[in-house]
Amino acid sequence: MAEILIIGAGIVGLSSAYYLKKQGHSVVILDKSEIQDNCSYGNAGMIVPSHFVPLAAPGMISQGIRWMLNSKSPFYVKPSLDSNLITWGLKFMKYATDAHVAKAAEPLRDLSLLSKQLYEDLAKEPGFDFGLVNNGILAFYKTEKAAEEEAHLAAAGRKLGLDMVELSPAECQALQPALELDVLGAVHYKCDSHLYPKQLMHLLLKYLTKEGVRILRNHEVTDIEYKDKKVTRVWTGSTDWRADHYVLATGSYSPALAKLAGIKLSIMPGKGYSFMEDDPEHKMTVPALLCEARVAITPMNGQIRYGGTMELAKMNDKINMRRVEGIVESIPQYFKNLSPKLPKQEDIWFGFRPASPDGLPYIGRSKSMDNLIIATGHGMMGLGLGPATGLLVSQIIGEKTTAVSVDAFQPSRFAS
Ligand SMILES: Cc1cc2nc3c(=O)[nH]c(=O)nc-3n(C[C@H](O)[C@H](O)[C@H](O)COP(=O)(O)OP(=O)(O)OC[C@H]3O[C@@H](n4cnc5c(N)ncnc54)[C@H](O)[C@@H]3O)c2cc1C
Repeated sequence: MAEILIIGAGIVGLSSAYYLKKQGHSVVILDKSEIQDNCSYGNAGMIVPSHFVPLAAPGMISQGIRWMLNSKSPFYVKPSLDSNLITWGLKFMKYATDAHVAKAAEPLRDLSLLSKQLYEDLAKEPGFDFGLVNNGILAFYKTEKAAEEEAHLAAAGRKLGLDMVELSPAECQALQPALELDVLGAVHYKCDSHLYPKQLMHLLLKYLTKEGVRILRNHEVTDIEYKDKKVTRVWTGSTDWRADHYVLATGSYSPALAKLAGIKLSIMPGKGYSFMEDDPEHKMTVPALLCEARVAITPMNGQIRYGGTMELAKMNDKINMRRVEGIVESIPQYFKNLSPKLPKQEDIWFGFRPASPDGLPYIGRSKSMDNLIIATGHGMMGLGLGPATGLLVSQIIGEKTTAVSVDAFQPSRFAS
């Protein structure tokens, strides 16, 4: 059995460790943080086979430009001469086509359905209660335009074998009896699920530690050495680490790490915010997506998590309160009796979605380093796609046939 070194302890790194350990490998994980608050913790917890349309889709560019003119809008690109943003943006524009959407749908669906199944399997294991609920997601709309787009999406989803149905306001109300709805209708993404990410991460860390995986916190990888198409060792400051195989699972930080190994990886960090609210009064039963406002609302841990916005800019720790106000103000427009207070800055969580320009993750062996597997770029679906990615990483390292094809996810697909 092999020695594996995983860089990054988000959901992708931990899921990879989980399946690699099950196959009997010796696994070490290095993470630069305390592993208490990466992007895998504060997200909306949604598992979304319904999201078979990648972010790079027709209409996103014109919609994005309109949104940029509104300081409370859910999407923002900071205009900049940053070469990463420019090359990312050019690729995004190239892929925002109907042809790309059609090509991406089946690979994304297959990866998502595999992941959902793996979450169901994991939830059956003793000690793995992470709040998995299979009652779908309601995508609410208020305008005819969004209704039409959602109907189109639901029809395309059904063609792909996904359970997605349009509901009238009365049918929506029956599913959310405690909420006073002000909507035109919704599509019920019955194929989707949700969970409590913080609890999932906690249980995975606990399980892996018990199984003998070495998880090293505050170990930032600062250099990667390579020779003859192989990574030879990685450095955390003055300490070096050697393994047979290396897994790069560092989310939005991956381009900088890949660069250390001489590899170009196009990812922009897509900053999003979330906050929690106790929900004693209005019990939300089914998670919600507010289509026009692009807000996600998820019941978890007896509370409600509200999340949204996508700011594409260089990583920074600033909280843009205007955008959080945008999230807060949108909620009573859909649910008359649900109006969370504007949270204090210190109660707002933010994370960076690792967004690839074509909206597909990078999963596969590096073309230039035979013993390096890249597993990142999952954008707004990394939590949902974590287990499938981990399983695929373990199968690639084990030189087994992968459970689903990884052709669409090749890390070198943009290499010129
Ligand atoms: C507001 C919001 C809502 C979201 N909602 C959902 C959702 O509902 N469903 C869904 O599927 N996804 C959702 N996402 C996206 C999802 O959270 C991410 O795609 C996912 O968490 C990425 O996981 P990861 O393991 O790739 O990266 P991360 O969780 O970011 O982990 C990367 C790790 O790498 C470590 N690292 C970085 N550099 C180094 C280094 N040099 N050395 C060592 N370690 C290093 C970091 O410390 C970090 O722990 C949401 C994201 C946001 C922001």
